[in-house]
Amino acid sequence: MYIKDMFSSKKTVISFEIFPPKKDYSIDTIYDTIDELAPLNPNYISVTYGAGGNNKDRNKTVEIASIIKNKYNIEALAHLTCISSTRDEVEEVLKSLRDNNIENILALRGDIPQDPNFKFPTPLHFKYAVDLIEKIKSTKDFCIGGACYPEGHIECSNLNDDIQNLKKKVDAGADFLITQLFFDNNFFYNFREKVDEIGINVPIEVGIMPVTNSRQIKRITSLCGAYVPKKFEKIMDRYIDKPQALKDAGIAYATEQIIDLLSSGVEGIHIYTMNNPEVARRIVSNIDSVVKAINNNIAV
Ligand code: FAD
Repeated sequence: MYIKDMFSSKKTVISFEIFPPKKDYSIDTIYDTIDELAPLNPNYISVTYGAGGNNKDRNKTVEIASIIKNKYNIEALAHLTCISSTRDEVEEVLKSLRDNNIENILALRGDIPQDPNFKFPTPLHFKYAVDLIEKIKSTKDFCIGGACYPEGHIECSNLNDDIQNLKKKVDAGADFLITQLFFDNNFFYNFREKVDEIGINVPIEVGIMPVTNSRQIKRITSLCGAYVPKKFEKIMDRYIDKPQALKDAGIAYATEQIIDLLSSGVEGIHIYTMNNPEVARRIVSNIDSVVKAINNNIAV
């Protein structure tokens, strides 16, 4: 099923994101994670894609997406980055996704490799995600998602310019969007107003990261530049040496964020699970009655 069609019922879409096991770990270790996520009945599960784009990583994403779709009968969203890939390599992945019955792709540029010796493909076929979206769209085979950034992408100095670039992705064929994580919902509400104003009218799913350990927060915020509100910082500082308290507080914070977003009418929640089913389970349980109350009010 195309993910865009899940939004047309107007019911809240709930999805999870997982990543392939780190190198040196067998792909089989992902079964335990999916075994525990499946009973939570997500609308779909997405699988990240290694930015380095070596063949092994590529195959892992396709393989895991295929397991989700064909063994668990859950809809899968395969992430695909393009900055370090040639057109032939992208075509190969698309073929492999098609062969595995995968219908949904999150089309991404990927982060620019920081290694000064990194060799970009010449010619550079895919400079931005929009180039990949155009390529995938031309096949007519897939539903396409794109990434968006309520606080602006870290390389873009101005949110309005970033939103103009986002419009190009939607005009090129992105059917829905998923946001980067954020810890202050006001960024999302401000962003939502701006994207509405310039006529971006595809569904936007909100990406939420439950932060359950302090190492995570430092790494994440340095990578994507998310603003850390005082209220959140206090939690992190206060319970830094108390793992259970930090986990409980992180889950409570994410739950509060999600309930506020759902009450404001967001179309979907995408939980960055970090392959931690317990955290996903607790959040889904916390928001269960709210999601049901919203969905039961919608005539089908
Ligand atoms: P783009 O949309 O190409 O934007 C990148 C930058 O270029 C922005 O600053 C934008 O304003 C600018 N820009 C875009 N188009 C133009 C244009 N036409 N002209 C001028 N400037 C332009 N990374 C991974 O490696 N693997 C993953 O699996 C992965 N999953 C992700 C999932 C989500 C939901 C999100 C939000 C991000 C994910 N990322 C992943 C990270 C992502 O690859 C990085 O944020 C990357 O730096 C940007 O990717 P993008 O697709 O948003 O790029």
